[in-house]
Amino acid sequence: MAAVCVYPGSFDPITVGHLDIIQRAAKLYDTVIVAVLHNPGKQGCFSVEQRMDMIRTACQGLPVQVTCFDGLLMAFMRETGTNVVLRGLRAVSDFEMEFQMAQLNHQLAPEVETLFMMTTPQNAYISSSLVREIGAFGGDISAFIPASIEETVRIHLLNNDCQK
Ligand code: ADP
Repeated sequence: MAAVCVYPGSFDPITVGHLDIIQRAAKLYDTVIVAVLHNPGKQGCFSVEQRMDMIRTACQGLPVQVTCFDGLLMAFMRETGTNVVLRGLRAVSDFEMEFQMAQLNHQLAPEVETLFMMTTPQNAYISSSLVREIGAFGGDISAFIPASIEETVRIHLLNNDCQK
């Protein structure tokens, strides 16, 4: 049976930190499903379609499938018959929330395991929100964004009001 993991998140937009996790996961799994959370209560800066397109572009050549979901992640896991959730960990500040989510998800779907991958040190401070903030002020985001989507992200951030 092919080994599959699901990497869920906002990816608003995908950063080199996300891409590093995906590249490393691709060495361990036959397929990495990158699942963009469509949160109706939180509009986001890029549309879900834009985020998915950028992930596809950034992940070209990797065994990656890109999709989106709304509602409960555990419902998505059951619908797709997948049982490994992958999450990245940066600082200790990520831990508390991730710990809570993993416990909660285990309660909802005990057959699903949440696995954590540590960020590589040079990506530890990189987040989508930081990229949005720097990009909105016309700052250089090239160190934080995959080169293949940098232009798209740069122009979008300059022309849209989405600093949060
Ligand atoms: P969410 O809103 O679900 O946290 P994100 O897109 O911010 O969505 O993050 C998705 C996942 O990627 C999370 O597990 C997050 O901790 C991880 N992640 C984000 N940035 C990095 C990074 N620089 N290095 C490693 N993991 C990261």
